[in-house]
Amino acid sequence: MPGSVNGVFNEHVGRVPVAHQKQWADETSALERSTIIACEVYAAPPPRELTANLTPNPCTRPAVVVRFAAMTTTASTPAAQHHADGHSGHSAFEDVNRFVRRAAKTLEISDDVVSAIVACEREVVVSLPLRRDDGRIDVLTGYRVQHSQARGPRKGGIRFHETVDLDDVRALASLMTWKTALIDVPFGGAKGGVAVDPRQLSEREHEELIRRWTRTMVHVLGPHRDIPAPDMGTTARTMGWLMDEFHRLEGFQPACVTGKPVALFGAPGREEATGRGVVQIAVAALRADKRDVQGARVVVQGFGNVGRFAITSALERGMKVIAVSDVTGAVLAPNGLTQEDTLASSVRELFGRYEQLDPATLLEVECDVLIPAALGGVINDDNVARISAPYVIEAANQPIVGGADAALHARGVTVVPDILANAGGVLGSYFEWTQNIQEFRWSLERFRDELDARMATAFNNVYETSRRYSCSLREASFIVSVGRVVESFLLRGKVI
Ligand code: NAD
Repeated sequence: MPGSVNGVFNEHVGRVPVAHQKQWADETSALERSTIIACEVYAAPPPRELTANLTPNPCTRPAVVVRFAAMTTTASTPAAQHHADGHSGHSAFEDVNRFVRRAAKTLEISDDVVSAIVACEREVVVSLPLRRDDGRIDVLTGYRVQHSQARGPRKGGIRFHETVDLDDVRALASLMTWKTALIDVPFGGAKGGVAVDPRQLSEREHEELIRRWTRTMVHVLGPHRDIPAPDMGTTARTMGWLMDEFHRLEGFQPACVTGKPVALFGAPGREEATGRGVVQIAVAALRADKRDVQGARVVVQGFGNVGRFAITSALERGMKVIAVSDVTGAVLAPNGLTQEDTLASSVRELFGRYEQLDPATLLEVECDVLIPAALGGVINDDNVARISAPYVIEAANQPIVGGADAALHARGVTVVPDILANAGGVLGSYFEWTQNIQEFRWSLERFRDELDARMATAFNNVYETSRRYSCSLREASFIVSVGRVVESFLLRGKVI
């Protein structure tokens, strides 16, 4: 079976219990054993399906469970497909890889090299038993996928959401590789998460969960290995707890995580960076087509970190935000939201001030700029015909799936892809990381100036590439980033 395999090991390979060795031999082919280059060991309880037929581990140290990716050059793709087939029927990871392959074809990169750069370098899956406030124990699944370190330490957020699964995390990890390359920061790509509804966690449970995630992942993390950050369902507070747990285990290294609270080695400007970057890119796209920015009507899906700061930035630039939604509902504001509205704890709090809207129709509201800033997959084959905005700025990761991207392109809709539109977040993380390493703090003005300048450079580069190759901004973004990753990959001598 190519792709992901499961095995049970002890921390010392020489002491692997016989039963475990047998399972290892049974479950892996000779090819897989010879090509496995990543093997992770965790102090986590083994899932029942792995231990049911095994004799107890005779060693005094606790048994540990490993799940690792067989790194044949084609390992990730069939595994992702296998995984996806068992779930939603399509693979988010494959969606990303299609764009990578298309860019590679344009750049005339060989299939062998493409196979190597699309595969995830390391995949860590752990079980996380969590004692709930009512005394129950829930066994949650946690992930860290490290897609590439060709251009530097891996970098990527941690998502707490009930839909998190391995295929999703692979897709998001690979997007980080292409994103960091596109904005030319010295990072690779990674992503992590836990399959859990963050709204069902008390503050104590949330803290305990991120501390457990950190303890089980610590051996693959570090300021020059893999640097997490917030994503959906996690916040600056979560990153503060992660840093504290990392420090307990590895000593003082604030650069081990970004997106921390400003009072705890965070960087002023990081929290707003993604939303600010999203709007800067929207403005650049409008200006490139000589469209008015002042008064442009904007619709935002999502009222979390990204959505909220995107609204703030849009209002600062004279745009009119006429509708917004979150998990609690949606409102329509034909005369525009105000800065004060962004302080509301949820969209539900705005119900008294504005007309309520069916959240399912939010993306279809007539506007100039549509900003999906919540979940992936929200613009799909089912609703793409009803999307009327001429500009869609992908603040969320992978909000457009299936044939929807091609359908929008065919209709002349300008889509700014996630790896460009929301890159302000990882750019801000890069600034925080460099400040932590230098033990020197920038002013907010310097942070914003650097962010704006680098986002402008990235947009111009992608825009010119789209002209040169007569292609969409998404294809152009992948042409730029795939070219850079392949160059580093080959210069390192990764494939001899
Ligand atoms: P968040 O958890 O702070 O906010 C998510 C928002 O989405 C919340 O307002 C939630 O209510 C809303 N939401 C959830 N389900 C919804 C639904 N079905 N309909 C409407 N709204 C819904 O997360 P975030 O950090 O703002 O991230 C949002 C997106 O941006 C994610 O796709 C994330 O991967 C991406 N992103 C975030 C960053 C960052 O720096 N935070 C950087 C790059 C990309």
